[in-house]
Amino acid sequence: MKPALKLLKWYQEHGRDLPWRKTRNPYHILVSEIMLQQTQVDRVKTFYRDWLKVFPTWKRLAEASNEQVVRQWSGLGYNRRALALRDIAMQVNEHGIPQTEEDWQKLKGIGPYTASAISAFAQLKRTMPIDTNIRRVLGRLLFGVPYPQPDIDSQIQSSMETFLPKSGAFYDVPQALFDLATMTCTKVPTCSECPLKTSCLASQAFLSGTVSIPKQMIKKTREQTHRSKPHPDRIYRGRILAIAKTTPGTSFEDIGLLVDKTFDRKLDQAWVESMIKRLENEGLLKTNARTILL
Ligand code: SF4
Repeated sequence: MKPALKLLKWYQEHGRDLPWRKTRNPYHILVSEIMLQQTQVDRVKTFYRDWLKVFPTWKRLAEASNEQVVRQWSGLGYNRRALALRDIAMQVNEHGIPQTEEDWQKLKGIGPYTASAISAFAQLKRTMPIDTNIRRVLGRLLFGVPYPQPDIDSQIQSSMETFLPKSGAFYDVPQALFDLATMTCTKVPTCSECPLKTSCLASQAFLSGTVSIPKQMIKKTREQTHRSKPHPDRIYRGRILAIAKTTPGTSFEDIGLLVDKTFDRKLDQAWVESMIKRLENEGLLKTNARTILL
């Protein structure tokens, strides 16, 4: 049996039951895809349902203000995604729903991965959205590369014409790959339990224990931090936004101590104000007479 068919069979028995897999609505799929960027699946499930209750259609989201979308997104993090999603809804509301992957990509805020994902999951197109997870599985399976890097993507794309089934549920193959990547073909894969082990070009190397994890993958990505603060800026930015939401009108002078117990006015005031400025430039909050508002 061809690997993609084995994978689909495995997916029918072991695939995760996720709410966005029960719809073909492109808006719902897009919401899930944007939420899943940088947020774990379990957290997204609740936010996804709540978001669709408040903004059930492209039109309702397109008409929402910055404050409404950021408020509803609150808790998911990386709030710029909320505004980007609203801006995509505005474009769709004005020009209609794109019907091809190329047309999705013409929308500001949609890259090749998202265009391919909506085309596959909402419009049942024969395409492969390549993210880190899918790259890891397909790079191993088809090319025998234990830790594939983005430069392999064009080779993966070229092999999709033969890899993807020509009929049946080819649009579910990427979903099956996501699940295999999460459950089995992880950073250190459990090849002995993999439905693809007899077809995979990397399985022997992993099973024989001769593969070591590249050093650059062990290092954690460094986030931007200020002085010796215990958290990256991302955490303090989230706290500033929470204050803008719960206590609008808080002054620039008071925010420092509210977001950081170790705040030092001499050393940290400029840092706090630069984060406020960035949040304002990104459209996530407003300022008025040196106070913050949503
Ligand atoms: S056999 Fe191992 S490396 Fe190959 S796809 Fe399965 S889990 Fe990944």
